[in-house]
Amino acid sequence: MLEIKTFVFNPFDENTYLAWDAETREAMVIDPGMYNAAERQEFDDFIHANGLTLTHLVNTHLHLDHTWGNDHITDTYNLKTEANSGDSMLGARRREQAQMFGMNPDALRPLNVEVDLRQDDVIKLGTLDFTVLHVPGHSPGSIALYCKEAGVVFSGDSLFERSIGRTDLPGGDYRQLINAIADQLLPLPGETVVYPGHGRSTTIADEAAFNPYL
Ligand SMILES: [Zn+2]
Repeated sequence: MLEIKTFVFNPFDENTYLAWDAETREAMVIDPGMYNAAERQEFDDFIHANGLTLTHLVNTHLHLDHTWGNDHITDTYNLKTEANSGDSMLGARRREQAQMFGMNPDALRPLNVEVDLRQDDVIKLGTLDFTVLHVPGHSPGSIALYCKEAGVVFSGDSLFERSIGRTDLPGGDYRQLINAIADQLLPLPGETVVYPGHGRSTTIADEAAFNPYL
């Protein structure tokens, strides 16, 4: 059985998800955005208190608010960064991203995609499978992670409750995003719960019916 904990981290109110198999206690962090010592401690305390073993570090895309905690995770848990290599340029330019948003870039290292996640790749988490869906448009390498068995999809910044990701940042493309959502996300079962990169969770059926952008 899949369990999920949502942390809201950093000045961008980014959702950092921790997903784990309740039986094996193997866990995956999706978009670690912890920004300061208190947020790093909160995350580490939760891992220890719940007896979890972190086995995957996945980024839905490499915008700064979704990667701020990557260095902490790689250093503390000895994990490789798994993401789509279409965002490699964003990973290399984390300091420029920080300066663009008026944030201090000193603590940031360039980020390399060490495991390239591509369309239909499967991430194993205990007894659960997560399928990689390529949903470019918010960024070239944006992906979603779909767990059919649990009926959930982590959508990154592609699809939000009643909204979609912005496409005015470098590498963004509005048409591409609309098409990717239509091709990759809307065909999922309507009851699938969507866990987005910001804001509240929703369902595919609700977004198909009520999202003004789709
Ligand atoms: Zn983003």
